Amino acid sequence: MRLDKLLANMGYGSRKDVKALMKKKLVTVNDAIVKDGSVHVNPEADFIKVNEKTVTYKKYIYLLMNKPQGVISATTDTRDKTVIDLLADDMKHFNPFPVGRLDKDTEGLLLITNDGDLAHQLVSPNKNVGKTYFAKIQGKVSAEDVEKFRNGVTLEDGYQAKPAELTILNSEAVSEIEVTITEGKYHQVKRMFEAVDKKVIYLQRLSMGLLELDRSLALGSYRELNEMELEYCL
Ligand code: URA
Repeated sequence: MRLDKLLANMGYGSRKDVKALMKKKLVTVNDAIVKDGSVHVNPEADFIKVNEKTVTYKKYIYLLMNKPQGVISATTDTRDKTVIDLLADDMKHFNPFPVGRLDKDTEGLLLITNDGDLAHQLVSPNKNVGKTYFAKIQGKVSAEDVEKFRNGVTLEDGYQAKPAELTILNSEAVSEIEVTITEGKYHQVKRMFEAVDKKVIYLQRLSMGLLELDRSLALGSYRELNEMELEYCL
């Protein structure tokens, strides 16, 4: 990989900024000053320093976002803001993408990474990774609905959803529930409630496998996964 590209990717500014650092003799590779950005380095074997500080090369990034309403969980969109637009430039260099989709009006836990293998593990239907949502539902959710979810409801297109665990937190004119599903079909939770004649009016993802929403994150903000969370996922 070119040295200037690597340093730009690691957040040392644009290629022009990196060129300026090199001109000032601030970049060393294996303790030798390098002034030519086109030099190829092996980020896993070469020892690179900028201004005396070691550059720790990262291939992958893993970000935990508290997704707000009004943004699309995609990398680009012609009309709306995407979750990637919410990231700082030094994260965008990694070409990250969201793992699975949350609807525009759904909030909560969203993992953003550039690790395609991990993304596949988490969203593959065969892996049965549980996703838990909190929802507000128009109408009273009943024990009968819990039973129907346990047996797997049939969606309007005839698809038989896998069994889901529905917990009623309160059953009022607007009920509050938690539901755990192991699939990720389009509008799955909303369509499951439609199958029992009810409407989701608020949806928030709380967890995905062992990864939980960090409630200290404001809507729209994110942080890198900590070591324990990474271990859960990898
Ligand atoms: N189910 C839905 O209906 N919407 C989401 O965003 C996620 C799950």
